[in-house]
Amino acid sequence: MKFLSTRGQTDPVSFTEAVAIGLAPDGGLFLPETLPGIGGDWERLARLDYATLCAEVLGLFATDLDPAVLKDIAARSYRGFTHRRIAPLEQIGERLFVLELFHGPTLAFKDFALQLLGNLYEHQCRVRGETLNVLAATSGDTGAAAIHGLLGKPGVAIFILYPEGRIAPLQERQMACTGAANVFALAVDGTFDDAQAALKAVFGDQAFRARHRLSAVNSINLARVLAQSVYFLYAWLRLPAAQRLEVEFVVPTGNFGNVLAGWLLQKMGVPIRSFKIATNQNDILFRLFATGDYRMTAVAPSLAPSMDIQVASNFERFLFYSVGRDPARVREIMETFRATGAYRFAHFDADTFSASHCTDAEITGIIRHVYQKYGYVCDPHTACGFKEINRDRLSVVLATASPAKFPDVIRAAIGQAPTHPALEALKSRPIVKHPMRADAAAIKAFIAAHGV
Ligand SMILES: *Cc1c(COP(=O)(O)O)cnc(C)c1O
Repeated sequence: MKFLSTRGQTDPVSFTEAVAIGLAPDGGLFLPETLPGIGGDWERLARLDYATLCAEVLGLFATDLDPAVLKDIAARSYRGFTHRRIAPLEQIGERLFVLELFHGPTLAFKDFALQLLGNLYEHQCRVRGETLNVLAATSGDTGAAAIHGLLGKPGVAIFILYPEGRIAPLQERQMACTGAANVFALAVDGTFDDAQAALKAVFGDQAFRARHRLSAVNSINLARVLAQSVYFLYAWLRLPAAQRLEVEFVVPTGNFGNVLAGWLLQKMGVPIRSFKIATNQNDILFRLFATGDYRMTAVAPSLAPSMDIQVASNFERFLFYSVGRDPARVREIMETFRATGAYRFAHFDADTFSASHCTDAEITGIIRHVYQKYGYVCDPHTACGFKEINRDRLSVVLATASPAKFPDVIRAAIGQAPTHPALEALKSRPIVKHPMRADAAAIKAFIAAHGV
């Protein structure tokens, strides 16, 4: 199986290459040249444990990896999860389920993709006899999940930049209290955008980039999307056969990554009825699906910070299919969007997609309501998913983070705060962080001194 760029100006590459490169050289995103069919034999698939199902699904794409290697990578990726079912599906109402995606090491759904990506990187380094310095800028969950995906891996060092004083204290502890020698938490003097811009400048230095074998962790890596498809299938298979045709997945999203993962599965033959795109007040995706108008506005910080996103980068993959897989059209639309900050679409599949948005006041109200009505405590991101549940369907709300990560919001809503042993343990560990100017030269000097 080969992988193409959405912009059509990159030669097709193998799975391993697409994962290693991340963003295609023409600025596009990788997609499989054809979507394989999944299933038919649902009862066989329903008997597989999570890691085995993951290896089966990924094996349809990763045809350049030995199936035994893939199986081992998948098994190791989900071994550190604390729930025996990895992604438990909990029924909380008559036709209402929650898919809990927060039982990984950093208590948010990004662990599903980044544990796997970490092991794929490690495998590649070993096969090629190379080392790798991984860099990312983060405003929260991605950095923590990336660190925990690469923690202690031989031949890999990871440098995470975050804006000092501008992320939640527990999120900082998840990055700065690991005690691992290959992890460097760089506390940048400035905003997230300053950190991001400095990082871009580091990657812009081609000679430095090649000399230190830099790699970026970001939300557009194909392996992340495919890893996320697996839990949609796993959840769907847990439902009684008679109800599987009426399932609506409700997906709290900012970047479109998680919705895309589910939708690809539908295109591969899993008869998922529909998807609801749940946004917070940063609602570019809500406006898009409600009106066809894709228009950038300023980001307004919200109680669900991991969805405070202005441009939904994974949307380009969806766009590619929407325009009949025509890369020239994708280039034209992305160029119009880049130049004007807006694009108008004529039509979306309203039968498959609906969307909602949620203000901060609504988030707090929903956390309280869900607790009172169902006795279930949800985090502020997941709360967005409970807005306007479609009563004609069987709804599965994706729970993207543990409520214990957001004690202040939960306390304000229900008068008590959940705790989690993994987070409590962090509070007594020393913070090891490196103060950093938002400046490419300073970052490069640090990498040269501490990298592998
Ligand atoms: C990253 C994140 C999201 C949004 O994910 P997308 O990739 O934008 O779909 C939602 N909730 C939490 C807790 C997250 O960390």
